[in-house]
Amino acid sequence: MIHFVGAGPGAPDLITLRGAELLRRAGMIVYAGSLVNPRLLELAPQGCEIYDSASMTLEQVLEKLAAGEKKGVVTVRLHTGDPSIYGAVREQMDRLEKLGIAYEVVPGVSSFCAAAAAAKAEYTLPSVSQTLIITRMEGRTPVPEREKLSLLARHRASMALFLSSGLLKETCAALTGEDCYSPDTRAVIVYKASWPEEKILRGTIGTIAAQAEAAGIRNTALVLVGDFLGDDYELSKLYDASFSHAFRKASK
Ligand code: SAH
Repeated sequence: MIHFVGAGPGAPDLITLRGAELLRRAGMIVYAGSLVNPRLLELAPQGCEIYDSASMTLEQVLEKLAAGEKKGVVTVRLHTGDPSIYGAVREQMDRLEKLGIAYEVVPGVSSFCAAAAAAKAEYTLPSVSQTLIITRMEGRTPVPEREKLSLLARHRASMALFLSSGLLKETCAALTGEDCYSPDTRAVIVYKASWPEEKILRGTIGTIAAQAEAAGIRNTALVLVGDFLGDDYELSKLYDASFSHAFRKASK
């Protein structure tokens, strides 16, 4: 059984208890060295084989995982954040399926959650937005035509952009096209959320590219955009004294 584990956004104590326990019992760990905090590897027992997948191909990763399985040791494939978001995990699961090797996925705290925590923001504010769009600027990986940023931006929903901080000018231009966000919509860049070197830049879609350039931020950052970063919203129904729900009767 191969364990795909979400390592969380960076801080070593933001992995789940289940993930940490698997690392403590691991005989082999293949980790995504570009973003996983190496301090997590300190949990591994002596003698555990550890490989950084940053320089490996899909085939090489699979070879390692299959070797771990053959040895009968606890084999962990450690992904940054949560494996389901830009994790390239599906192709690995499908290969294991073909090889007849069982696997499971242990979720992790995605960086979009850590970024909201760092910015002390809530994506789903009543009367502002009830939708979070998780997307990316098109880079070398194409984005389907119908999901172009300029189309998604028309919803003016809360948005978390992955893998886009190296293309900020293009990103901000696409966000402010016709019927899209206005350039003075709030935007926040969170660099290395939950790491000691975390940085938060607050501005607008119009200013954030220059701010990031001045701060030297080009990668490992999330761009958050939307009116949820502002101060106008309605209070929730959930805690409204005049509103009854399954767990509480109205008191007013
Ligand atoms: N599976 C990961 C995302 C992998 S894609 C997750 O759930 O978070 C890699 C991108 O994620 C980076 O380019 C960056 O946009 C974002 N990212 C990952 N860790 C981050 C962090 N600690 N702070 C800000 N952005 C991060």
